[in-house]
Amino acid sequence: MSASAVAPEQWSSWTWQMQHRIRSADDLAQWVEPSEDERRAVALLADRFHFVITPYYASLMDRDDPECPIRRQVVPRTAELADPDGVADPLDEVAHSPVKNVIRVYPDRIAFCVNNECALYCRYCLRKRMVGEPDWAMKKRELAEALAWIRRTPEIRDVLLTGGDPLVFSDERLEWLLAELRAIPHVELIRLGTRLPVTLPFRVTDGLCRTLERFHPLWLNTHFNHPRELTPEAAAACDRLSRAGIPLGNQSVLLRGVNDDADTMKALCEGLVRMRVRPYYCYQAQLLEGTEHFRVPIERGVELFRRLRGRTSGFAIPQYVLDTPYGKVPLDYPYLKGREGDDVVVESYDGRIWRERNPLQERDPA
Ligand code: SF4
Repeated sequence: MSASAVAPEQWSSWTWQMQHRIRSADDLAQWVEPSEDERRAVALLADRFHFVITPYYASLMDRDDPECPIRRQVVPRTAELADPDGVADPLDEVAHSPVKNVIRVYPDRIAFCVNNECALYCRYCLRKRMVGEPDWAMKKRELAEALAWIRRTPEIRDVLLTGGDPLVFSDERLEWLLAELRAIPHVELIRLGTRLPVTLPFRVTDGLCRTLERFHPLWLNTHFNHPRELTPEAAAACDRLSRAGIPLGNQSVLLRGVNDDADTMKALCEGLVRMRVRPYYCYQAQLLEGTEHFRVPIERGVELFRRLRGRTSGFAIPQYVLDTPYGKVPLDYPYLKGREGDDVVVESYDGRIWRERNPLQERDPA
């Protein structure tokens, strides 16, 4: 199977893509040559975590290489069964929920998991406990209860709509939700967290953009992990969003065998910048069940981002972070070495030491 085997108007229809998603090893075999391990994993993990892929994303896979960075992200492997340290909810999100699917870690902002569905399911998904699970679906009554909580909580000035993926909603449902939020005077900012520009870029229709641009200020973070995902279709989707006035950021995850080398990360970040998408965060993969084979030691991650510093535009380098139940922690190389007398000592990107006169305390101008 290939994209050229499908009529172009079907291929570029997001509803056609959703209806024709890959859900079994036999479906997968139409796109790639599944390895024995992949076939076994699809069967063994069927009850643990959903296996669903859009035909568009499947078309990016290498047919013969199970180590393909696109394939690794979405096709199960038996390695998921061996992970003694992984837990279901590493950020303790359930304990941070004042009302169903609202996660509050910071005083002034929330993640609002409005939807439990995605176009496809990433094997390393932080919310694998809930995505695709009917118990976590939000009925309209439950969405209304969450909105009521936001209405009576005036400290909340920033609402991230996430999931699952909020853009899996129909335009009408999204419009209703955005209008409800915009009618709350203390909600200054609405953010969307969506992977659809990556996994189903045809969802970003002109109609959707016309709906979104009515609710500014609206920001959007998407989730590209590998340069191979930066296709013309994805670039066109990001362009439509940018033209609707929506600032675009990217939140990737550092994943072993996908993007854990400096050259791949640099190509990803520079490609994003060319598409006017600002690399924002790169997350350390969490201690999440079934994902040990994806995790990279933090020291190696720090070194990877150090290798980008000075070798590409500063705004092409995302902040490498560890998310914790207490909030995000930046994982920076220690360029600031300390104080020597009246000087502060710093290290440049290429390892040279610089001493800069630095006042011990601020003085009022005479
Ligand atoms: S798109 Fe995001 S929420 Fe959905 S499965 Fe992937 S990582 Fe999880």
